[in-house]
Amino acid sequence: MTYESISPSVGASVLYTALFEALPGNSILVQADAPRFTVLAATPGYLHNSGHTKKTLIGKGVFEAFPANNADPNHKGDKDLFFSFQYVLQHKEPHFLPLQRYDLPNGDGSFTEKYWRASNTPVFTPDGNVAYIIHTAEDITEQIKAEKREEVHVELQKAFHKAEESEAAMQQFKFMADNAQDPFILMREDGTFAYLNQKALETWGYTEEEAKHIRVPDVDPIYQEEAFARAQNGEILKFETLHKRKDGVVYPVEVNMNGITLNDIPYLFAVARDITEHKKAEELLRKSEQRQTFLLRLNDLLRALADPKAIQYEAAGLVAKHFGAGRAGYAEDTGDGKTVAVTVDYTNGGPSLKGVYNYDDYSVELLQAFREGRTIVRNDIMNDPALSPAEKEANATLGLGATVNIPLLKNDALIAVFFMHYREAHQWTEEEVSLLQEVAERTWEAVVRARAEQALRESEERFRVMADSVPISIWITDKEGRIEFLNKHWWDYCGEPAFETTPDSIAAKHIHPEDGPKVMQAFGKALLTGEHFEVEQRNRSWNGEYRWFLNRANPHKDPITGEIIKWFGVGVDIYDRKLAEQALRLSEETLEKKVQERTLELERANEELKRSNQNLEEFAHAASHDLKEPIRKIHFFTNQLKVQLSTHLNEAEIRSFNRIENATERMGNLIDDLLLYSHVSQRPHEKENVDLAQNVQRVLEDLELDIEEKMAVIRVAKLPTVKGYRRQLQQLFQNLISNALKYTRADVSAIIDVTASEVTENGRRYYLIAVKDNGIGFEPEYADKIFQMFTRLHGKNEYSGTGVGLSIVKKVVENHNGFIRVESIPGEGSTFSVYLPAE
Ligand code: ADP
Repeated sequence: MTYESISPSVGASVLYTALFEALPGNSILVQADAPRFTVLAATPGYLHNSGHTKKTLIGKGVFEAFPANNADPNHKGDKDLFFSFQYVLQHKEPHFLPLQRYDLPNGDGSFTEKYWRASNTPVFTPDGNVAYIIHTAEDITEQIKAEKREEVHVELQKAFHKAEESEAAMQQFKFMADNAQDPFILMREDGTFAYLNQKALETWGYTEEEAKHIRVPDVDPIYQEEAFARAQNGEILKFETLHKRKDGVVYPVEVNMNGITLNDIPYLFAVARDITEHKKAEELLRKSEQRQTFLLRLNDLLRALADPKAIQYEAAGLVAKHFGAGRAGYAEDTGDGKTVAVTVDYTNGGPSLKGVYNYDDYSVELLQAFREGRTIVRNDIMNDPALSPAEKEANATLGLGATVNIPLLKNDALIAVFFMHYREAHQWTEEEVSLLQEVAERTWEAVVRARAEQALRESEERFRVMADSVPISIWITDKEGRIEFLNKHWWDYCGEPAFETTPDSIAAKHIHPEDGPKVMQAFGKALLTGEHFEVEQRNRSWNGEYRWFLNRANPHKDPITGEIIKWFGVGVDIYDRKLAEQALRLSEETLEKKVQERTLELERANEELKRSNQNLEEFAHAASHDLKEPIRKIHFFTNQLKVQLSTHLNEAEIRSFNRIENATERMGNLIDDLLLYSHVSQRPHEKENVDLAQNVQRVLEDLELDIEEKMAVIRVAKLPTVKGYRRQLQQLFQNLISNALKYTRADVSAIIDVTASEVTENGRRYYLIAVKDNGIGFEPEYADKIFQMFTRLHGKNEYSGTGVGLSIVKKVVENHNGFIRVESIPGEGSTFSVYLPAE
C-alpha cells in the first residue's frame, strides 16, 4: 500500500493510526491544517524519542507539542520546521530540513540537546491536494556529539603538541583537557598515567595523588599492551571496552586512542566516553524493536482471521510459543455475573482448561484485582507467600507453577481474563508483562471486531433469506439512489438475473413507459426532501405482461446523525386489487344508474297515482253529489206511486215496491258515505284544539237509539285534547263506535271501552285512543284489508253497511299524521287502536 492510495477520509486516519503504530523509525503523520498542523499518528520510536505519549501528542498541534526552547539563544528549529511545512504545502513535494537542533523538553522546564535530520513528505488526496504531511526525524544527536568529540580530541592533541613550547601553552592544554566533557588520559608506555583530566578523576573516583600510583589495568582490566604499539605506529584505535571505577563498578566505554610523542617520549593519547546510557538506549531499542516485531506478527495473524474463536486460539498459541509457556487463553465473562467460561485455550501438550468456572472459585483478592483491572503475576506459585496452602494445592492440581492473569474491562466491568501458565516457576520481566497486556488487548479487540462482523454477516444473511422468501419486491438504494439490493421476488418477476443497477435502467426496462416518469419524479422528489413516497405503477413481468404494483419507499436514517443513509422500498402486487376495484367501480356505476332509473320510474308512477287518485276523489265527489238528487227523486216518486197504487197492489207487487225502496235507500247511504269520504280527502287548512271527550260525547248522543236497542254498555275513559280537524275526528269516532255497536254478538250484551294513553312509537310521542268491543271479531289476516274501500267481511243481509266507514277512519288518521292498527279474535271482539301525534 502506498500512502497515496489512501483517501483522506475519516476512516483513513484510523487506518493511518494503525499503520503508524506498526512502523519502525521516527515519524509522525501531520494534518495539513496550517498553521496548527495537527498530529494524527506517531510511530512508537517517535514517541519514545520525543518523550511524548500518545495522549500528549496525538491531536495536538505540532508546535504546541514541541514548543521552542527559549533557553537556546540560537533556536530556530520551530521556524525551520514551519517553513518546511509551508514549502511542502506550496510546492507539493518533499522537503529536507538542514541539520536541525531541536531540543526536547524534559518536563521540568529544562531541555535535552538534540540534533535531527528531518524531512517532510506530502500525502495527496485523489484530486492532488496535500492532505497530510509525513514528518520523519532521524535523531543524529549522538553522531553530532561524536563529531564534536573528535574535534575536541584533535584540538587537544594540537594543544598538547604546543604544550612543550611554553608553560603558558601547557596551561592552555590543561585548561582545555579539564574542560573536556569526557575522561581524557595520557598514558606512558609502562601503563602509568602522565596525565588524567578532571573528568577522568571524577569518573573513576581517584584523587590526583592516587592517580599517580594507578596503572591502566586498574581502570581497564582487559587492556592489551599491543594497543600501545599499534597506536604508536600511527593507527587510530576506536573500540568499546569495560572500565572499572575505584569502587569496583564496571561500565561500558567507547575509546578513541592514538599515539603521540613528546620530547621523544611515546605516550598514548585517549578519550574514553561513558556509553552506559547509550548501551541502555540501544538495549531498549532492541527490546522495543523485538516487541514491535512480535506485535506486527500478531497483527498479521489477526488480520488473516475472521472467526473469533480462531483469533483467540491462534493469538494464544503465538504468544505461548513466543514466551515458551505451557498454556494461554481467555476466560470470558458469561454475562450471568457468576461464571466465566474458557472456550478456547492453547496448550503445549498439557490438559486444556476448557469449561465454565465460578467467580467464587477465585480468591477474593484475585477477583478484586481483576475487577479493578490489575494484572496479577505469580512467578513462583509454590513459594508464593501471598498464597494459602489450599490455593497452592489448587494451583498444583491444575499444574500451575507460574501464572499471569490480565483482566480486560469494558465500561469498568470485567469482560474477560487473559491467562498464561507455566508448569514450573517462571520469572517475567516488566517488558514481557507489558507486551502480554498489549497482546491481550489487541487480541480481544480483534475478537470483538470479528464477533461484530460475524453478527453483521449473520444478520445480513438473515435479512437476505427473509427478503428472498417474501412474496413482495424489496429494493434498497444508497442515499443517492443507487441500487444496492433487489430481492429474488423482483428478479423472478422480471425473469432476469440482477443486471440493472440504477433506477433509470430499471425504469427503462421494467416499468410501464407511461408510469416510468411518474415513478422517477416521485423518487427524485423523495431524494430531495427526504420524505417517504408511494406510487402505483405497472411493472413488466418476464412474459411481457404488465401488472400493477404499489411501490412504497422509506428513508433509513443514521440513528446518531439523523442523516439519510439508505432508502428501503417494497413493491406489492396490487393487480388483483386493481381489477376488483375496477369491477366494483363498474358495478357501482351500473347499480347507481339502475337505482336512478327506478327512482325516476317510481316518481313518475307516484305522480300518476296521485293524479289518478285525485281524479278519482274529484270524480267520487262529483258523482256522489250529482247522484244524490236523482236517487232522492227515485225514492220520492216510487213512494208516491206506491201510495197512489196502494189499493190496487197485490202482495207480490208491494214486495217489489219495498225492494225498490230498500235499494234506493242503500244507494243513498252509499252516496252519503262516498261524499263523506271525499270531504275527508279534502283537508281543511287550519287545525284546532279538539277535546276528544266532547267529540265522543256527541257521537254517543247521535247513537243513543242504537245503544238503547242493543242495551250496550259504553265506558269512556279520560280523553285528551288534540290538535286536529274536529269534524273529521268526530267522523272517526262515529264510524268506530257504530261498527262496535253493529258487529255485536247476539248472546252477550255489548260492552264498548274507549280508552286513552300516551305512548312512544319510533321515537315519537303519540296519544293512543283505543275502541274495544266484545263483538263477533274477525280473522286477524283481514286486519289490513278491512281498511280498503268497499271491503266487507260480513254479508249485507246480516249486517248492513257500505264498506266505506273504515276507509274514512284511515283517511282521517292519516290526515292527522297518525296511524291505525286493529287486533281481533273471531267470537271475542276487536280493538281498534288509533295513534294521534301528541306533538
Ligand atoms: P261497513 O259499512 O260494512 O261497516 P266498514 O268499512 O265500516 O264497512 O267495515 C268494513 C268491514 O269490517 C265490515 O263489513 C265488517 O265486516 C268489519 N268490521 C268493521 N268493524 C268491525 C267490528 N267492530 N267487529 C267486527 N267486524 C268489523
